[in-house]
Amino acid sequence: LLSLQGATVRFGGRAVLDGVDLAVAEHEIVCVLGPSGSGKSTLLRAVAGLQHLDAGRVALDGRDQVGVAAHRRGVGLMFQDHQLFPQRDVGGNVAFGLRMHRASKAEQGSRVRELLDLVGLPGAGRRAVASLSGGEQQRVALARALAPRPRLLMLDEPLGQLDRSLRERLVVELRELFGRLGTTVLAVTHDQGEAFALADRVVVMRDGRIAQSGTPLEVWQRPTDEFVARFLGFEN
Ligand code: ATP
Ligand code: MG
Repeated sequence: LLSLQGATVRFGGRAVLDGVDLAVAEHEIVCVLGPSGSGKSTLLRAVAGLQHLDAGRVALDGRDQVGVAAHRRGVGLMFQDHQLFPQRDVGGNVAFGLRMHRASKAEQGSRVRELLDLVGLPGAGRRAVASLSGGEQQRVALARALAPRPRLLMLDEPLGQLDRSLRERLVVELRELFGRLGTTVLAVTHDQGEAFALADRVVVMRDGRIAQSGTPLEVWQRPTDEFVARFLGFEN
């Protein structure tokens, strides 16, 4: 479904993405792990078309996406800072993600309720965004990203602000949901527990490069080098 070849992004002469090769198969759930500043968000932005590549290519279904506008790529992205529309209520934010203005109000309403139940905010549709905690806002942003059912869903620290027990519950539910919907997922996290529970494959980044890519078990049992081993150890 997705393939990156030699994807490179430079800021002020420094390669923040440094020749990244990555392929994501249809229905695969890939989690990108790595320290702060290793280029995880930049990678997602490049795939989404929000970040210009200085070299390399991004292809979806084998078609080169360089020059294709972000809104034409058919990918969903939930940002790390999950900006919601403050002037819309919770339901309005989630419905925005539906992009189905031809659907009846009743249909939209039931879909919004379904999505809010899913992220653990049942009945919150009428609440003002400003009245939500950071974690609750994050869940609304997740519901909004899930709403259009993009073929490739990219999540940047989707559960970052949530407490551990909620995160553990949501990860299991999300994995089940993505499997049911057949959604291909590329998710960034720096929580290795989350990555290992969610992912079919884990990609560890370091300084704009992929240090290791493998199943959670492979990465856990056979870290490719000291960096990966230490990174996993520190995070634990
Ligand atoms: P975090 O875990 O903190 O979110 P990250 O792995 O997502 O980190 P990126 O946001 O991809 O990291 O950033 C990688 C590097 O690129 C950082 O050093 C960052 O300062 C730099 N960077 C990102 N965007 C820009 C920009 N627009 N201009 C200059 N430098 C940038
Ligand atoms: Mg980031």
